[in-house]
Amino acid sequence: MSDFKLNAVNQSSPKPNGVNLNAVNRNVIGILGGTFDPVHLGHVALAEAALAQLPLAEVLWMPSGSPGHRASPVASAHDRLAMLRLATEGHPRYRIDAAELESSEPTYTVHTLTRLRAQLGKAQPLVLLLGADSFLSLPTWLRWRELFDLAHIVVVARPGTVLEGTLPAPLAAEWSRRLHDSTSALRATPAGAIIVQPITPHDVSASAIRAALARGAAGAAAVRGLLPPAVLAYIERNRLYQPHTDAT
Ligand code: ATP
Repeated sequence: MSDFKLNAVNQSSPKPNGVNLNAVNRNVIGILGGTFDPVHLGHVALAEAALAQLPLAEVLWMPSGSPGHRASPVASAHDRLAMLRLATEGHPRYRIDAAELESSEPTYTVHTLTRLRAQLGKAQPLVLLLGADSFLSLPTWLRWRELFDLAHIVVVARPGTVLEGTLPAPLAAEWSRRLHDSTSALRATPAGAIIVQPITPHDVSASAIRAALARGAAGAAAVRGLLPPAVLAYIERNRLYQPHTDAT
């Protein structure tokens, strides 16, 4: 069940950034950032639902290097990228941007979106796809308010996370200013809207998968069905997240 109140929208919000619609490139790009440690079917479901239900031309998968606001990944950058390639290969509307992964510095979303915005131009609609847990943590992100100048934000349900009544005050203020009920807002302007996207929730997380794999054979059986088969095969072949590794 979705934890979202889907009809709590502010239809009288001004058009974000007040941009001339005719100047906008309508090939909206969705951006799915994460540690992908490992990529799992919750991520895939999020990307699939975004492509199916939003006016997106493509989903740009953006694996983080050393994220600025959370613990370092367990698997190497090389392995996380290899798993992401396996999970996305052959899909005509998926692309991977490995720039963050290749950075030796901690990576922050505001820097990544600033780079993309500089590359793609100010009229390009960008949509940051966030699970509800990530959205709730937004005020802890570096220069988080600037994210709304750089991209729209689409929030998807995640089991275990309730948005209603739990938004921290500064985020609640942005929510009431920016929430739109129609996905056409994503095409109409380059940035600034918040949309809540209902998807069938997948109760899966990378940390639970790592913890299961760290339990050995029994755990490995438990994660079947939570990962793309090629990703699970990669994990087994390369003995990732095994009992001797840090599983948290
Ligand atoms: P961890 O358990 O290590 O925190 P994770 O499963 O949350 O990892 P991330 O790579 O951190 O995976 O997530 C990337 C993005 O995908 C985040 O915005 C997160 O909210 C979202 N996401 C991850 N799993 C799900 C899920 N099952 N349903 C909806 N969104 C998800």
